[in-house]
Amino acid sequence: MTSFLEKIESNIREMRRVRIEFCRKRRQASEYQRQEFNVWRSSSEAYDLIVFQLEKLGYICPICQQDLNETNATIDHLFPLSRAYHKAMDTSNFLVMCHRCNKKKYNTPFQQWRGQLARYQKNSLDYAIQLIHGKTKLQELIGSSSEP
Ligand SMILES: [Zn+2]
Repeated sequence: MTSFLEKIESNIREMRRVRIEFCRKRRQASEYQRQEFNVWRSSSEAYDLIVFQLEKLGYICPICQQDLNETNATIDHLFPLSRAYHKAMDTSNFLVMCHRCNKKKYNTPFQQWRGQLARYQKNSLDYAIQLIHGKTKLQELIGSSSEP
């Protein structure tokens, strides 16, 4: 007969196993989405999206205000890809910005990153999101207390 303690230990082992499996599957899904995005990134559809956003933004980076064009623009995932891989191909999660700003943001959660920006950058970012994705999207991004 298994003791009560053994039963608990067995349950803990099982929970740990399930958790490891869950993390592994999430990593796989995340990697798959990243690859899908990278393939899409070199398509004409991605190019059109970049041009569309650049035109709206007047060909400047919405964060640092430096000149931006079709060749030096990167597509940022507002909700970071590593944290919200299901939004990897969600164009309402995309914002063009310069390589430097995108790199600086890396996988910082949106609200945390926005909170670290200078006031003029924050204003510019909010304006850009509203201009491209609408007021509701901006509110969704700012208002959400946790990342999806
Ligand atoms: Zn920039």
